[in-house]
Amino acid sequence: TTFADLGLSQKVLSAVTDAGYTIPTPIQAGAIPPALERRDILGIAQTGTGKTAGFVLPMLTMLERGRARARMPRTLIIEPTRELAAQVHENFEKYGKNHRLNIVLLIGGVSFDEQDRKLERGADVLIATPGRLLDHTERGKLLMTGVELLVIDEADRMLDMGFIPDIERIVKLIPFTRQTLFFSATMPSEIQKLADKFLQNPVRVEV
Ligand code: AMP
Repeated sequence: TTFADLGLSQKVLSAVTDAGYTIPTPIQAGAIPPALERRDILGIAQTGTGKTAGFVLPMLTMLERGRARARMPRTLIIEPTRELAAQVHENFEKYGKNHRLNIVLLIGGVSFDEQDRKLERGADVLIATPGRLLDHTERGKLLMTGVELLVIDEADRMLDMGFIPDIERIVKLIPFTRQTLFFSATMPSEIQKLADKFLQNPVRVEV
């Protein structure tokens, strides 16, 4: 399999080539085609397997149609830590360099005003940690009702950090008609239960 076989757009393929990648990793080869078919995905993969590009590349392809409205992000990625959120943001900048998408990072330690201004412009992609995201929704300046695709990344770390109640609150704000991509390195029973609750007929990709 090559990247060109996976159904990605030309803009995305050209950024992947510029990044120097030729062969998709197993999680990428397994997750990208069903993600582009709008299937839900249960990805069991550790960091270092290339899972970030596994969701970033199909998202960029899908986001080429349509545009964001003020305060209504089109897609949401939830990460357990600021560092992971920042890494995903860097991946979007790298692979999305041929796109004109508004990518917004919502993490703690940054002023609300600056984040508000970015949300006001309309986010194609919102990358957030749970606490800061809920702070914004509670202030009434961020609406989750337009989210078409949700990524829950590092679900087992969210569990370890006590974020599951926050995740449940966030997911309740998003329409059930969304597509959901759910990643975890391990599948303890609490995580399996959460996956069963959030995913509809998922494709399971284990690496
Ligand atoms: P991740 O598991 O998403 O944290 O990615 C781990 C590392 O693998 C990152 O440094 C990526 O830049 C790199 N990477 C991702 N996909 C590929 C690929 N298909 N070929 C070579 N390296 C890759």
